[in-house]
Amino acid sequence: MLEQKLIKNATVIGAGIGGLAVALALRKQGIDVQVYEKAQQLLPVGAGLTLFPNGLNTLEAISPGIIKSLIDAGSPTHQVNIKKSSGETIFPQPQKLLEKYGQPMLNIRWSRLQEILASKLPKDIIYLNHRFVNFKQDKNSVEVEFSHGKTLHTDLLIGCDGINSAVRQTLVKDGLPRYAGRLSWRAVIEYSHELLPLNQVFIITSNTGKIFTIIDVGGGYIFWSAGMLSEDDFAPSQQVKSRVLQEYSGWAEPVEAIIQATPVDKVVERPICDRPPLQCWSQGRVTLLGDAAHPMIPSLGQGANTAFEDAWELANYLSDCDNLESALAKYDQSRVERTQIIQARSAIQGSRSYEADSDKFLSKAIQQTQLSQSEFEDWLYNYNPHLIREEGRGKRE
Ligand SMILES: Cc1cc2nc3c(=O)[nH]c(=O)nc-3n(C[C@H](O)[C@H](O)[C@H](O)COP(=O)(O)OP(=O)(O)OC[C@H]3O[C@@H](n4cnc5c(N)ncnc54)[C@H](O)[C@@H]3O)c2cc1C
Repeated sequence: MLEQKLIKNATVIGAGIGGLAVALALRKQGIDVQVYEKAQQLLPVGAGLTLFPNGLNTLEAISPGIIKSLIDAGSPTHQVNIKKSSGETIFPQPQKLLEKYGQPMLNIRWSRLQEILASKLPKDIIYLNHRFVNFKQDKNSVEVEFSHGKTLHTDLLIGCDGINSAVRQTLVKDGLPRYAGRLSWRAVIEYSHELLPLNQVFIITSNTGKIFTIIDVGGGYIFWSAGMLSEDDFAPSQQVKSRVLQEYSGWAEPVEAIIQATPVDKVVERPICDRPPLQCWSQGRVTLLGDAAHPMIPSLGQGANTAFEDAWELANYLSDCDNLESALAKYDQSRVERTQIIQARSAIQGSRSYEADSDKFLSKAIQQTQLSQSEFEDWLYNYNPHLIREEGRGKRE
């Protein structure tokens, strides 16, 4: 049993979206928190993100008023268009999330989101140039070690260090992420085109195992991302932009024009990966959050949104429970199953159903995949951070 006391301080590894959100949520509960990031600067990542009602409502609960700043910086989607690579529109779908769930589908540059979150935290709690390498824990504290030799002691260590999490490796040693058989290229550029009305998303498909997505992310910027089936998880070519131009040659405008307009050094190439779900994220005084806990295939756009949910719940269980052990147990209990289902849904089932996960998870996941799309959306977007908190309190009384 851990000592029966609330924590006085927490150490977060990673100043990505999840790390910043949990730092905000912990501070809201009066918990002293420091964030350690390996990068030397919080540099813009060449990506855009879509925030959905579950994520937006959770961020608003963590930092009241934040939605307005996000909407001002981003672009609410009014229509999603599915097109063919020939240019033909197959399915123009007006976006109804705002009417149905009270919040829009909001696209934003990853770097603007990170800036807005960071601006709500005191600067002196974010330590750059600190690469976590190891931890050791006993029942009273965790000793955290960084690559330059510095160590510190903390009551709670939260690994928010992404899909290649070193905290996760130290905790569960489950090796490298799992390659999903798709390569992706992406960039954020300042761009406009007559075929790209504002507040719209274009998903352009082909029958050659390739897809191209164009998203208005606000402020005159678009986020484009190209995905392609590939046995290899790396592209042999050094010339990433030429490779993308070659792969998408002949696609209807504005695909080629967008790739042409993208500076070579702005094109990011990554394999698409996830990890098999864990049954438990916490051991002793160490836990995981966001991609470190539940990296998912980005098909539902829920990675960051669910990281916000993790942040909110973890901070609330820490504030409401009598001891750390039960707070982390409740966090695992509440988060693991929900994110497993979203991970599985994101990976579109398939081989996942044959994996050796627990019976409980499989039956729940299959049940979820048999829901109609609108029933699934109700379950996903109606996440209410305040209700979760009330239910948690009710269970303890
Ligand atoms: C193409 C693509 C599109 C996506 N679209 C969406 C979307 O529309 N909506 C959505 O919700 N999600 C989306 N996602 C997923 C989303 O980007 C991630 O889920 C989210 O960024 C996870 O945040 P995180 O803070 O957990 O991890 P990360 O954003 O990966 O941040 C981890 C941080 O930890 C730092 N770090 C790593 N190792 C160490 C170390 N050893 N020591 C110290 N610091 C360390 C890193 O430098 C980084 O700053 C998408 C992902 C991809 C790849």
